[in-house]
Order: sequence, then structure tokens, then C-alpha cells
Amino acid sequence: MRLSIFFSFLFFVQLGCAQQKTVRYTDLYKAHGQYLEERIKDRRFKHRDITSIVHSLPQKFKVKELGQSIEGRSIYSVSIGSGPIKVLLWSQMHGDEPTATMAIMDIFNFFKASDEFDRFKERILEKVTLVFVPMLNPDGAERYERRNALGIDLNRDAVRLQTPEAKILKGIRDQLDADWGFNLHDQSRYYSAGSTPYTASISFLAPAFNYNKDINAVRGDAMKLIVGMNRILQKYIPGKVAKYSDSFEPRAFGDNIQKWGTRTILIESGGLEDDLEKQYLRKLHFVILLSSFDAIAKGWYKNESIKDYKRIPFNRSSRFMDLLVREVQIERNGDWYTVDLGFRNEEIDTEGATNFYPKAGISDIGDLSVYYAYEDVNLNGAKAYEGEVYQKTFDHWSELARINPIELIKRGISSIRVRNGISAIKASKLPLQIINEDQTRNKQVRLGGNPTLIIKKSNVVSHILVNGRLFSLKKDSQKIQELWNAQFH
Ligand SMILES: [Zn+2]
Repeated sequence: MRLSIFFSFLFFVQLGCAQQKTVRYTDLYKAHGQYLEERIKDRRFKHRDITSIVHSLPQKFKVKELGQSIEGRSIYSVSIGSGPIKVLLWSQMHGDEPTATMAIMDIFNFFKASDEFDRFKERILEKVTLVFVPMLNPDGAERYERRNALGIDLNRDAVRLQTPEAKILKGIRDQLDADWGFNLHDQSRYYSAGSTPYTASISFLAPAFNYNKDINAVRGDAMKLIVGMNRILQKYIPGKVAKYSDSFEPRAFGDNIQKWGTRTILIESGGLEDDLEKQYLRKLHFVILLSSFDAIAKGWYKNESIKDYKRIPFNRSSRFMDLLVREVQIERNGDWYTVDLGFRNEEIDTEGATNFYPKAGISDIGDLSVYYAYEDVNLNGAKAYEGEVYQKTFDHWSELARINPIELIKRGISSIRVRNGISAIKASKLPLQIINEDQTRNKQVRLGGNPTLIIKKSNVVSHILVNGRLFSLKKDSQKIQELWNAQFH
């Protein structure tokens, strides 16, 4: 008989002298808010933000500069605990993959505090030494890009070791001879968990260490711990956990670190509805990482089954769209054709890559019945028209405050020209297209295009489609007005 309750009963916390309370992962989940690092609010934080946090940590954390990036940014290790089991965690080796770094900042606050979890922490830290390397690629984070300042993907430099960042990671792994390694990334928000209509919101992998994908004791332990984390996540994001591709990549860190004898776990944060800034996934990371530390300290992961690891579905790539508009008619040369339109949003960074605005594009067109979407609407044969431009060109952005957007949309107007003061971020939030005085319009429905469309049913305007968002006049009129007001009042 197999025992499978390990991750639900984490252990006992001493409360007062006699009373004991069982602490479960649900307690960590509930408590996360009190440890939230407020200085990190969204995904585009920078090296300077984590530097100030790391430097303000109390004495019980050992902070060390391991070296510097190509552009001279310090890369730190932060250690806590004195146990014989060495656990190494590194995040943001890809500069635009920040979710786990946010969770690590919260975990610092968790270990910093003195509270009802003290006994829980002590029991981990007497068995385990935790070594965090948050933001391994600070130059990439500065630009919100995957690669480092040389344009090298650090995750293809584990063997050649040309970049200082890769050398730092290899160096600390070897110096610790780490027992466990957590390789923390973000993946595409368009992956699904197997052939299901669910996003792969968290994906795991115990990376292969050879082309045969053999399972030795090291990789097997990593698989078992993943089974425990998966069980926790199923409570919060049921069906939305997957496995990353297990193909062996001889140049990657996860694969090599597994080969070098460290039980290695890849965690990828994917997409989740209503969580573009990944604050909920940050919270889930906090829970599964702390639960893992406990499982490692107590050895409970050993009772998990590799069979259960194999049952976790693989990621299926590119199965999701941001918006799917099904069964809409489009016109070409006087004839009408029924198509589905799938939109995906690109994030366009603003100056300094501290903010962004979304730019939609048609990712596929035709019969898209095999796709899923964050927003999925069937228009049942309604017709799409190129919207009209408002007759007046406005001098300044602020004049738009007087506009009643719903009246315009009803008249088939989708676009307004403005001479001065357009902010791309503000404009991207409006339910009408705002264009410069002389800007040519993106009209045609074509692959890669971002058309602004007026949708009509029986010749009456029912929807507007602008920058990959669909607004219904019937259902969304309040929302349209609110979005408008929010930018001008
Ligand atoms: Zn990555």
C-alpha cells in the first residue's frame, strides 16, 4: 500500500507549551499576504529593486556577491539555514521570466518574520541549507529580454561556459555540491496542459540527463518531489499543471545539473486567466517551494510514486489564444466567408522596459476548432466591417473626454484621429482605436494583422473589435464607459 498524504500533513508546529497545531500547505497559502514583498508589484522589476531588498536582509541571511554580469551588475547568493542538505535555487536566468524571483522575495520575508511558523522554519533550517540565486540574468531583466547582454541564452551555455552568469551558476553548484536544484523559469502563456482546454499554468520537469531519458535515483527523487507539488497545485489550479518537454538538451543547465548529481526540478510559470502579472502564480510558487523545503527536510517525498509523475500531462504548445472570435463573416471582393479569428497579444515595452502595452495580432485564421482561448466568443455568422474614422480630428488627447464612445460605436465608428498627446499605454486600454493624424490604418483581416472591426448582426452594430479585445454593446456597455472614463477623469 502506498501512502500519499505527505503533502497534506506538513508537520507539527509547537504553539505555547502543550498545544500543537498541524500546519498544512493551506496555511502557507492563507498566510502568503503577510509576507508579500510590497516593493515588487509586477513583472518588470529590475536589478536595483532586488539589490535593495537583498541588502536589507537581517544577519541570519548570508548574502554574498558571486560575481557580476556582462554589464557589471552584481549577482548574489542569499543563504539561510545550517543543515547538511544543500538546496540551490536560481531564478530569472532568462531576464523576462520573473515570477519565481517575486516568490523568492516573499520567501525571504517568511524566513525573516518571527511568528506562528517559527517551529516550521526551524525544522527546515536545521536539516537544510537554502541557497538562493535570485535574478541570474540582471542585464536581461533590465531590458526585459530572455538573453544576456551578449545575446547568449544562458541556458545553452552550461557546457561552454563563456558567459560570467553561466560560470557563476556552475561555480555555486559545484562549490555546494548541491543535493537539490530548483531551476525557475516562465513559459509561454499559450501552452495547454495536454489535450485539454486548460492552460499549462505551472509546468514541471525532472530534466533528462541523457538522450535515453534514463531514470536514476537522482532524477527519480526529483520526479517524486514534483508529484507532491502537483498534488498541492491541483487544489488551486485543477487541471492546469503539466510537464515541460523532456527532450535532452546537452547545452542546458537543468539537464547538466541533473547529470552532475543534483536532484533537479524545473518549474515554469505559464499563463493563467486574470493573472497577466502573475501575482497568483507568485503566491502558488511561495506555497510549493516552502512545502518542498519541508518535504526535503523530512524526506517525505520518498513515498511518492514515479508512476504519478508519468501521469502528469505534457505541455502542448500553442494551443491557446488570447481571444478567439468564432464564426464571423469577413468580406473579400464582394464575397463573404465564415472564419474563426485567433488573436494573441505581444507586449511592447515602453522606454526603460518598466512598463508595456499590448499589441494584438491575428495568430491564425480559418477553422480554429482545435484551439482554446482566454476569451472565447462565437458570433454565429455576424459580419465584420472595417470601422469608420470619426469625421473630426482632435487637437489633443484631453478633448476625447467629451466623447460618448457607445454612441460612436453604434454609428459604426471605430477610430478617432488625434494630433497630440497620445499615450500608447492609455490608448491601448480604450474601447476605440486612437490614431495619429497621418497614421495609416491597419484595416485588413490577415495573418499578423491587427484590424479594428465593427461587427453587425442583421445590419445592426453588435460589437467592436479593437486591439484584440471584443466589446459587446449589449453586455459590455457599462465596461466601455468605465474604460473610457478611467483614462480621462
Ligand atoms: Zn526560461
